[in-house]
Parts: sequence; C-alpha cells; structure tokens
Amino acid sequence: MIIIIKKGADEGQVENLKSFLKSRNVEPHVSKGAIQTLIGCIGDVAHLDPALIEALDVVESVQRIQEPYKAANRKFHPADTAIDCSGVKIGAGNFGVIAGPCSVESEEQIVGIAKSVKASGASMLRGGAFKPRTSPYAFQGLGADGLRMLSVAKRETGLPIVTELMDFKDIELFNDVDVIQIGARNMQNFNLLKEVGSYTKKPVLLKRGMSATLQELLMSAEYIMASGNPNVILCERGIRTFETALRNTLDLGVVPMLHRLSHLPVVVDPSHATGYSYLVEPVAVAATAVGADGLIIEVHNDPPHARCDGVQSQTPEMFADTMSRINKVRGALS
Ligand code: PEP
Ligand code: MN
Repeated sequence: MIIIIKKGADEGQVENLKSFLKSRNVEPHVSKGAIQTLIGCIGDVAHLDPALIEALDVVESVQRIQEPYKAANRKFHPADTAIDCSGVKIGAGNFGVIAGPCSVESEEQIVGIAKSVKASGASMLRGGAFKPRTSPYAFQGLGADGLRMLSVAKRETGLPIVTELMDFKDIELFNDVDVIQIGARNMQNFNLLKEVGSYTKKPVLLKRGMSATLQELLMSAEYIMASGNPNVILCERGIRTFETALRNTLDLGVVPMLHRLSHLPVVVDPSHATGYSYLVEPVAVAATAVGADGLIIEVHNDPPHARCDGVQSQTPEMFADTMSRINKVRGALS
C-alpha cells in the first residue's frame, strides 16, 4: 500500500500517521520527491482500512501495490536509488565498474590486478574467495586466506572490495568486505538472504538466478530489504536457454525493464553472460548504452592459466580498452 501525502501537509500530522502505522505493525517508508511525498507501507497491510486512511486530512490518496515486491518497487520509491559502496556510489546517475579475477589466487595476483584495473578506471575490485563450482573437484577458492589477500589489495589501491558469500557461517570473515555478492546459485537461498539482510546494511550485489524471472529476482531483493537492509544492487548475468553458443543468454531489454519496475541500480555482468573474453567488450558497451548503472567484469593477468573462468577473463590490456570505449559511450549519451 502507498499513501500519497497532500502537498504542504503538516509535518506533525504526517508523524502521527507514521506512528499509527507502526502501532499496526506496518513499517512506514517515506519517499520525498520533488512533486510528491509518499509513504510506502511494509508489512501485513490486510488489516488496514484504506478508506479510513484516505479520510485523514494529510492524505491525498491510497493505492494498493499489485506486485508482490514492495520495498524494491518503483511505485514505492519513484526516484532512482544510489547505493553507497564505501564511498563509491552506484545508481541514480552514478556509474561504476567492478573488475577483477573470478577467484583470488595469490596475494601477488590480486594486488597486481587491482592496481592495473584501478589505473584503467575501475571503481571497485572483485575476486571470489568462496567459489560456487559445478564440480566438487574444481578449485573451490582460497576461503579466509583469499579474503585476507583482498584486504591487502584494498589497502594498496583504496578500491572497495566485492566478493561472494556462500554460507552465512562465514559472515564474520567479511568485516573488511565492502559489497557482499550473492551469486546466481544462491539467489533463492531465502535463509541466506534473510540472514544477510538482518545482519548487515552493507550493500549486497544480488545476481539473477540462471532460471529466475525478473519478478523472482525482485522478490529475492525484497527478502533482503524486508529483513532490514535496503542496500541492494541488482545484477543481470544472463540466464540459461536452449542456446549453447554463448555461456548464457543475455537479454539487455532487462535493464530498462528493471528500471521501470524498480528503483534499485542494475549492474550487468558481460563476463558470465557471454563466457568469452572477446565478447565482453561489445556486450559491456551495449549494456552501458542501454542504461546499466554499472558493470562487473572478470580480468585476469594470465587468463590461460586462471584457476577459474579463464576463457571469459579479459587481460588488463583488454580491460583498459573496454573502459575507454565505455567512457566514450557514456560521453556520447550524456
Ligand atoms: C562470479 O561472479 O564469479 C559468479 C560465480 O557469478 P554467478 O553467480 O553469476 O555465476
Ligand atoms: Mn567467474
């Protein structure tokens, strides 16, 4: 339910309305826009009588939200949301590129890549320490050691770090992590979403599950938000279809559609979406042109010897070139 407040309404009366909602176990989310102020209601609104609320002096009108996602809904928060990732903003006109290897392999590797992607203009560093691998025999990541190496790279470059949390039992190791990634395979791990949402307000990069609809992606964002963490960045990384020529199928129409449905920022991952390093640049450029708020790109110093996802990893030189083309597209669009 959304309550639209009359222009010039008395602040005290708005506060009274908020207290009334809270007394009914409904959490009011105020969104002050240039034209209108809204109160989005989170919780079980079934027992609230819209006619009663509409009759209040300060209330212009009451609208029911049909969609099952509320806090993530654009109707709840008409303006774009910018998420602050330890000083680097993403969304609402702020564009950010997260770059780094699929997995952290050594201190030398992650620090070296961090320095080179920073020099090319990346705003955050990625690197998996806990890796969700299809095979139990494949490299599973360096775990706590990998997180320690990411911290060293952060200290050396100042880049905020983004890394995946697979199991909530590891959360205490994530103190120095700036953005918690929830991977495609865990998008519907509802317990993990609830645990992360209630434990921290750190930004969460939520990747779309490989067979998830946009509504399911938004419902997963809703889990995190309803648990207390409003700082969610959506990530489109392609889905699985009958097509096998590319690693996944990336529908870039999803970007403007998610912007229509939600106020949350949308980041595109052209590396997992395509699976081939030579496809990453054109797709990154297209994602930028279609309005993505950022990109997450895999970059490796020695892709043929990468322990994970080498085929789709750009070299630092390719990444530098991609950044300059992205900047040209952004310049042309502005
Ligand atoms: C990753 O970012 O390295 C990753 C495993 O991505 P996804 O969850 O999208 O497959
Ligand atoms: Mn990867």
